[in-house]
Amino acid sequence: MRTVGKRSIVLYILLCLFIAGAVWLVISLLMNGGKWAMQPYNYHLGTSNLGEITDRDGNILAKTEGDVRVYSENETVRRSLLHTVGDTDGMISTSVQATMRANLTGYNFITGVNNTVLNSLGGNLKLTISSAVNEAAYNALGDRNGAVIVYDYTNGDVISKVSKPAYDPMNIPEDLQTSEAYKGVFLDKVLSQRFVPGSIFKIVTEAAAMELWPDTWQSKEYNCEGSVEIGGSRITCLGTHGAQNAYQAFGNSCNVYYALLANEIGAERLQKKAEEMGFGESLSFGDIKCEPSFIDLSAAGANQLGWAGVGQYTTLANPYHMLALMGAIANGGTYVEPRLTDSLDLFGALDSTDKRLTTASEASELKAMLRNNVEEYYGDWLFPDGMQICAKSGTAELDGKKPTCWFVGFSANPETPYAFVIMVEEGEGGIDTAGNAAAAIIGAVNANV
Ligand SMILES: [Zn+2]
Repeated sequence: MRTVGKRSIVLYILLCLFIAGAVWLVISLLMNGGKWAMQPYNYHLGTSNLGEITDRDGNILAKTEGDVRVYSENETVRRSLLHTVGDTDGMISTSVQATMRANLTGYNFITGVNNTVLNSLGGNLKLTISSAVNEAAYNALGDRNGAVIVYDYTNGDVISKVSKPAYDPMNIPEDLQTSEAYKGVFLDKVLSQRFVPGSIFKIVTEAAAMELWPDTWQSKEYNCEGSVEIGGSRITCLGTHGAQNAYQAFGNSCNVYYALLANEIGAERLQKKAEEMGFGESLSFGDIKCEPSFIDLSAAGANQLGWAGVGQYTTLANPYHMLALMGAIANGGTYVEPRLTDSLDLFGALDSTDKRLTTASEASELKAMLRNNVEEYYGDWLFPDGMQICAKSGTAELDGKKPTCWFVGFSANPETPYAFVIMVEEGEGGIDTAGNAAAAIIGAVNANV
């Protein structure tokens, strides 16, 4: 009897192990099967069985005809969506055709990648993008390079995403790999690069002041005489603004004010606030980890801290992160993660959490300041009636190059809940270059969505 008892215990243990293993296998297959099936060593699956990609209005963005992958009929739409839809050779690794390949082949865990009724139904993808807005955004950049992203901050739908330079995936230029004009073209500037922020960083410096002096930040005054000596050398302003309080300095984008404010806040506290607001963190865009914005004030002297407070020194901003920050300010401090498709993703839904970047009161105060900028400084006339645009411009100075121009913000009208980031390289100035591009893009959003 004792022997039989021992044997049955061993059998029970083996049975339990077997069941645990089987459960693990099924769970892994459910969660990762699509990714496993789409690994590069399975690329023999090719593009011939990839489904259609359409925009939010049902316009074809990519489809397969015979063995050939074809894209939108409109060349500007094709260029404007190169980094979002992707190319046929898989060079744009953050595009939909690279990252959502499993969805496009209609892979599912019962039938695998075999062609069945099930996957021919599931192989198509409808994106949240408006190709009309994307075309307008590409055109708004004119001859310049840059990045644009617009999204609905209430549900995460990305309406437009542009990275320039781009090329036509149906007429790939012969000098793509050699021409200086296409340098870095395979990287999406919205997701995978970072740029000197200039004055849009004053949003962070101001938030640090709000945290430190919750009752007096608004009335804090500094005097701008066009420049100020800090730590042995001068920090220059674009104007001579005289006595400034927070609202005036934010609207005038006064460098003297924010350089002095950064020094009063101190390097450690400004660093910590920037990190709380997402600097140094790789934010998620679906399965993609974006390039983190950068700040390191550990070795900054007083003058360098002053320049950091106005978005210069070594600070760098990732456009996707700036969009998340705008979404958070519009939403009371937390942002809804941007998305390119609203089709139900069971496992994705479980780990997507709304992330907090500011407190509710900071979001509310910053929103009022950004709104005041447009009402009192940039002009509501730039934008469609009633959109209540809240925004900050930025002109980031670079050595030996024209400035990087930014315009970031959102509409405070609940009927048009869109946040936007426009970054234009080698422009003239924040409001002149990026502000005017923003006006055209927001006009297109208002007309098309
Ligand atoms: Zn000034």
